[in-house]
Order: sequence, then C-alpha cells, then structure tokens
Amino acid sequence: MSKIGNRLIIAVVVVVAIMVAGRTIVMNNQTAQDWLAEQALARVLGQNNDTYGGDKIDVVFCGTASPMGRGRAQSCTAVLAGDKFFIIDSGARSTDVLTGLGLPVGRLDAVFLTHFHSDHIASLGELHLASWARGRDSKMHVYGGPGVDQVVDGFNMAYGLDYGYRTGHHGEAIMPSKTSGLKAHRFTAPAKGMITVYQDGDVTVSAFRVNHPPIEPSYGYRIDYRGRSVVISGDTTKDGNLIAAAHKTDVLVHEVLQPYLVRLTSETLQKAGQEKLGQLIMDTLDYHTAPVEAAAAANEADAGLLVFSHYAPVPQNPLVERIFMRGVDEVRKQGVFMATDGTHIELPASDDGENDEKRQIIIN
Ligand SMILES: [Zn+2]
Ligand SMILES: [Zn+2]
Repeated sequence: MSKIGNRLIIAVVVVVAIMVAGRTIVMNNQTAQDWLAEQALARVLGQNNDTYGGDKIDVVFCGTASPMGRGRAQSCTAVLAGDKFFIIDSGARSTDVLTGLGLPVGRLDAVFLTHFHSDHIASLGELHLASWARGRDSKMHVYGGPGVDQVVDGFNMAYGLDYGYRTGHHGEAIMPSKTSGLKAHRFTAPAKGMITVYQDGDVTVSAFRVNHPPIEPSYGYRIDYRGRSVVISGDTTKDGNLIAAAHKTDVLVHEVLQPYLVRLTSETLQKAGQEKLGQLIMDTLDYHTAPVEAAAAANEADAGLLVFSHYAPVPQNPLVERIFMRGVDEVRKQGVFMATDGTHIELPASDDGENDEKRQIIIN
C-alpha cells in the first residue's frame, strides 16, 4: 500500500478513536454533560426572533401536510405583517413547529381559520397554551365563518379545567385568567368577492369563499401590507373567486392534491384489505386542486410566486416529488416553490407596488 494510503488509514483510526473517547467522556462525566446541555438549551430557547417581523411581510410555513402525510405538521401558515402576527389554521403538530422555529407566539394577534376540518384546528389547544405562557396579552382571538363559535366553545370547554389549573398553580401574574381562553370572531364572506375581516394600521386581512363541498362556507384569506400581499387558498378545488382574490398578489399559497398518487394510495389500501380507508382517500379527489390546476390558477391570477402547501399526499422523497410535480413546469414556466415545514418567505414593504424591480421576494 502507498504511503498516502497508510497515512489516510492512520488519520481515520485517530479520528474514530477521538470520537469514541469523547463520547465515553460525555456519557460518564457530569460536568461535560451539564456544559453540553447548557449550550443546547441556549440554542433552542435563546433564539433571536428579530428574523421575523419588521417593515415587511413574513410568511412562515408551520404545517404543510394534509391528513395524508407522516412526519410533517398539518395545515398552518404564519404571517407577520409589520407589527402584527397572524396564524392561518392550526393543524396537528403545528404549534411544535412554531415554537421550534422561535416564532414570537407570545405576541400572537389573531388566528384565522379557513374551515373546521380537523387538520386545520387540531392544535388550537396547544397554540392557546404556548401563546398564553409566553405572554399573550388578551384572549386568543379566533376568526372564522359560521361554526367558529362551536369550535371555540368546544376548546374552551375541553381546556377550561386546564386554564384554572395553570392560574391556580402559577398565579395571576404569570398565567392571568383574563387572558385565558379563545374568543370567537364570526363573519360571513359574500358568495363572490372579498370582505375585510381585520384592519389595523397598514395591515388588512380579507376573506373570500372557496369551493370545498360539502364544507360551507370554506374560506381563503388575503393579507395586504404596504404594497405587498399574500393569499392563502384554504382547501378548495380550482376556484374563480380565489383567482380573483389573488390577482397580482406577490405570493399565492395553494393547496395541492396529486390525483395519480391519491388513486395509487387508495388502491393499495383496498388491495391490503383496508377498503374503508381506501374509499375515504378516493373521496378526497373531488374537493382539492391538482398541481397542474393550481399552476393554471396562479397564471390566471397573474400571481408572482406560487407556493405549494397542504400536500395530499406529502411527497416523502425526491422520486415521489418528481411524480407529484408532473406537468407543472409546462403549465407554469416560471416554476413553483414547494414549501416544507419551516420555509420562510420575506416580502419587504414597497410603496412602489407597480414597479416589479422593487418587488423583492426572499426565500429562506
Ligand atoms: Zn385540509
Ligand atoms: Zn378541508
């Protein structure tokens, strides 16, 4: 063997020996363990939240899965516009993603629900506790269509004992009873067009109806701030009202269902004897949007950046991703961005909204 070969083997042996020795020291030495724990906690808990907020819109994906997706959180999009902080939908596991990313949930201004399917509301109880414990200064405001009162009353009833326990144990100064609980804000959007559901300073949130039968109503949202905007589709088929609401928006976040993969999943389940689940999955084909249709919708809306989220099913690897995106590039030449949990998009404010040069979109 050459000299270089021998040296390489020695170097590898030395590195492995150092790693083994280091691991042995850490596993048997409390001082080393304490030091590592301190470093890790400072990293996780001491995150700098300055990344989010300021004179821009931030769109942060806190959940990109539909009920068909393992490993990711379900529907959740955080939008920070100027000094406001909103969360659109609160699907299972999404609060964990929000706090893990260091988003400032203690200054949450409002939650907007698109509709009341479980994959859009399951984490409301966790979001309530996470934001309350971090200093939310009012009850958790939850906006939605008719039915939002029932959801809010239900969470308040289920978590009512918890509210009392927390205040009783930690005291009014730490967990004030006046800021515990959810507060419903019900509104009805017209059949066509948009309705303003929140307005404060430069920030406007509008809602519009989308098509997700038999769920009535099902909404999408548009957030505007200083010349920039983002539109969240909610759950829908390709929809004219959504296209109108998303006209010339900077970012269109669109739900997607890949029909071939959904059929394949359904047929595989039915062959494996899970007929009921297989049929349930087949039924989802009629109230979501195929990737090529979402691409066409973004073109018709003349939207700036199209971002996919709420995947059915969630593409688990590059091969499935390739299948998922079949035909999309041909429809939308400028491409599509596939969000994952943690994706962060920034839209710096622009007083010159018509000037494309100044309409910067930063994807982190
Ligand atoms: Zn959904
Ligand atoms: Zn739905």
